Amino acid sequence: MRVKKCVYCRQVWGISIHQCIPRSGYECPRCTGKRKRAQLSANQQRPKAKLI
Ligand SMILES: [Zn+2]
Repeated sequence: MRVKKCVYCRQVWGISIHQCIPRSGYECPRCTGKRKRAQLSANQQRPKAKLI
């Protein structure tokens, strides 16, 4: 176990030694989930193509 600070929420998280961290910085599971949900809702807001 090692600790890493999330680049988004600035919280310190305990992560596995085997987990690889992107060069851009560590993103915690909470922020990952939040970002994915935001992306998902953004997709849902997009008007759907109509079948003619
Ligand atoms: Zn975070």
